[in-house]
Amino acid sequence: MPPKFRTKRKAKGKTAESGAGAAMSAAAAAAKAAEGHKQLGNDAFKAGDFMSAIASYTAAIEADSRNHVLFSNRSAAHFSNGDFEAAEADAKTCVEIKPDFPKGHVRLGDALLAAGRPSEALTAFAHAVTIDPGSTVAAERLAKAQKAVADAAAAAAAAAAAAAGHGGVGEAGTVIGIDLGTTNSCVGVWRDGRVEIIANEEGDRTTPSVVAFCGSERLVGRAAVAQAATNPHNTVFDAKRLIGQNFSDDQLQRDVRHFPFAVVEGPGDKPMIEVDYRGTKRQFAPEEISAMVLEKMKETAERFLGHPVHKAVVTVPAYFNDAQRQATKAAGAIAGLEVLRIVNEPTAAALAYGLDKSSSAAAAAGAAADGSATHEVSDTVDDKPNVLIFDLGGGTFDVSLLTIEEGMFEVMATGGDTHLGGEDFDNALVELTCTMIARTHAGADPKSNPRALRRLRTACERAKRILSTAMTTNVAVDELLDGVDVSVPVSRAKFESINSFLFDKCIETVMRVLSDASVKPKDVSDVVLVGGSTRIPKVRAMLREKFGGKELCERIDPDEAVAYGAAVQAAVLSGAQAAATTDLLLVDVAPLSLGIELVGGVMSSVIKRNTPIPARKTQRYSTEEDYQTEIEVRVFEGERSMTKQNNFLGEFMIRGIQRAKRGEPKIDVTFELDANGILNVSAFDAETGASASTTIANSPGHISPDEIARMVRIAEENRAADEEFRKRADARNELTHLAKDGIEAAAAAGDAGMVAVARSHIAWAESDAGQSASYAELRRRFSELASRMGFSAAEDTA
Ligand code: AMP
Repeated sequence: MPPKFRTKRKAKGKTAESGAGAAMSAAAAAAKAAEGHKQLGNDAFKAGDFMSAIASYTAAIEADSRNHVLFSNRSAAHFSNGDFEAAEADAKTCVEIKPDFPKGHVRLGDALLAAGRPSEALTAFAHAVTIDPGSTVAAERLAKAQKAVADAAAAAAAAAAAAAGHGGVGEAGTVIGIDLGTTNSCVGVWRDGRVEIIANEEGDRTTPSVVAFCGSERLVGRAAVAQAATNPHNTVFDAKRLIGQNFSDDQLQRDVRHFPFAVVEGPGDKPMIEVDYRGTKRQFAPEEISAMVLEKMKETAERFLGHPVHKAVVTVPAYFNDAQRQATKAAGAIAGLEVLRIVNEPTAAALAYGLDKSSSAAAAAGAAADGSATHEVSDTVDDKPNVLIFDLGGGTFDVSLLTIEEGMFEVMATGGDTHLGGEDFDNALVELTCTMIARTHAGADPKSNPRALRRLRTACERAKRILSTAMTTNVAVDELLDGVDVSVPVSRAKFESINSFLFDKCIETVMRVLSDASVKPKDVSDVVLVGGSTRIPKVRAMLREKFGGKELCERIDPDEAVAYGAAVQAAVLSGAQAAATTDLLLVDVAPLSLGIELVGGVMSSVIKRNTPIPARKTQRYSTEEDYQTEIEVRVFEGERSMTKQNNFLGEFMIRGIQRAKRGEPKIDVTFELDANGILNVSAFDAETGASASTTIANSPGHISPDEIARMVRIAEENRAADEEFRKRADARNELTHLAKDGIEAAAAAGDAGMVAVARSHIAWAESDAGQSASYAELRRRFSELASRMGFSAAEDTA
């Protein structure tokens, strides 16, 4: 018999009427009149009489001009009537009145799309997706607009090529690869058979992921960083820590405390960044800030290529949840980029190196990366090499273990710390130099003066970089405090000793990831370095030592490896890449098991942890109660047997299922995890055709590698207890089912005494005593009831 869903308990309630005799205010009277006209409008709309609908909605608006729904409805009527201009005007008014009304943005997008303005439509739909990431309507419209934008670009490119007298192959199909980093971003493109990492206008190959609002100007990248000290409240960084998150998340709250700019609660518990821009207070969603960074990367690529770009592959950390991935896609759409694929950062880095092992085309790519023609060929003979990606950036640390088999990449395990990186090493150096300055300059304290502290921090970061190549340097700042110059000598050895506990932490994480994947250091064929902080010699030395003196993969610049891999993936998707590598596939894995809740709060995993993605799996379930026609499907992720100890991801109802005895309906629940890690769950009753689905986009929290490792570790520690819980839950369900069968049989036989006995077993099973009863006790009760009912327990459970 298929397992049963948790039964939905319906809340009872009734619509309340307002108190009798209450005097109606003028506003209420206007609203009531408007409601009447609206109803007439809705009826006319449904009947296809759009002119009458418009007239009624207009009358409603005259009665109540601040009701956004009326404008939304009239926009729909104008749209159906073919008047796209009027539809656009009404939709605009609707979103002005209520900016967080997703339908308003959809209506606006519809009007713009119909008017032949797909780029503007795309922005409108992206707004709707940003506000309601779970809306399938908004997501579908967004995809439609993206296609329209791409088609328009293709047509324009073909026309331009025709005018220039040659075939327009390539331009419209160009796909760029973007590493959208927490601190820095980087863009690459496949050209002439190799990856080009593209320098921005300022000549830098990476761009700070920072956006500043300066009066009426908006700055992105180095220019934004340059003015940060004088404009801290309007200089936004770390948007990646906010994207796809809830405002109430603990980690977000902790991060926000350290930001000099304001982050406030927006609609639907979304964090909104508040800045002064063009003379007024403006709020931006994290997606919009990330979109500004992506736009800069897009422009950088367009300047280099000499033509517009509309498609991209964007990378995200392996542990990003659905909401974070969706939001990153939305950021791309706002920037005018169709995000063809979201790729995990470690996978991209592995791809950058994996390429050179798989073909000669890669040799050229490898040479392009370091400017030399030397091609290091791995001499590993393993048929399934394990690759460790060690990514230590400015503020984040990620470790991933991948396997590569015939061009297939699979993530075996991940770990890390979302708050560990170069800035921590800078902080340790700041602490050290402050102590030394206080000693040599009679108690002077740079920390008492924000400007002095900032200048000291910059000097420390510079010194840290120098110590990656030199054994000693000075942290020197002219006129640091009261016109006094300071110069503090620091050695590499000292830098290493003050940061040793952080370096140890990094290595411990590596070992934990290896043990999670049951891989020994000697079985790791390659260690790939990613992130600027991997230039620190101590970090490299510790890694080399742990891996038995192995040479590390450092040929590709650690700041560029992820964008490099993203560009390779982009080339594969655009069909631009050499045939030798087009069969290259990427396989990531689900970091946590995904499943649904069954009766008794039991987790039923549909997609198991570490299943390669994209993945699609269907499992059959049934009902718990007789004649139950609706079921609540609750989706969770995690490794514990009890759903309450896992992460709740979302829920939906399937209605109209077969009206039958409990256990008879057959409901197929399908989990689909796409290549971007976005989860779609659907339920289908083949008997009645009833179906329902949801795209999970509201994961409750940020699941960092640490959190994943913690969840897996706790599940491991509680394996025995969880197994016991599952056994007890099964035994309790069996007892309940037996009792229900007993009630039915006894009622048919007119045995009131037996009905009462069976009922008392159900009541006991649901009581606290039943919930906490041991397995033995549950089985004992089962046998007792079975024998009362006239058959042996062994017979029933056989
Ligand atoms: P990412 O986030 O990958 O761009 O890394 C930026 C971090 O790398 C910053 O904390 C930099 O200070 C650090 N970094 C860059 N170059 C070096 C270097 N040569 N030695 C030590 N740290 C560096």
